[in-house]
Amino acid sequence: MTISTDPLHIAVSKSKGIKIDWSDGHKSDLGCGLLRDECPCASCTGAHGTEPLKSNYSAPPPPPGPFQMFTPVLKMLSIEEVGTYAVRIHWSDGHNTGIYSFEHLRKLCPCAECATARQEGRL
Ligand SMILES: [Zn+2]
Ligand SMILES: [Zn+2]
Repeated sequence: MTISTDPLHIAVSKSKGIKIDWSDGHKSDLGCGLLRDECPCASCTGAHGTEPLKSNYSAPPPPPGPFQMFTPVLKMLSIEEVGTYAVRIHWSDGHNTGIYSFEHLRKLCPCAECATARQEGRL
């Protein structure tokens, strides 16, 4: 089977993440935390020779205290198409330099089938 990186349909939930139906029939469910952690931009991947900045959103929230009335929840403010090959995500933490190509998004698919494909070098 050939793995497709052409999305047929993209469903965006700004608080949950992106669901993509691929043209090969596969479906990917990419949560916000995963997408933010795997941001492909230069500052997140350390392309400038600096330490990669990883979001802390996968860490457990701090215990509630009198001065922590509000714990920010990571979500997408908006998502825009970049050409025909990628999307750009504006995050609620102010980050917006990540351009997620569909190829990158397909590689991020967290399902067991894609994990096997990655192990076998097919993805
Ligand atoms: Zn980034
Ligand atoms: Zn998958």
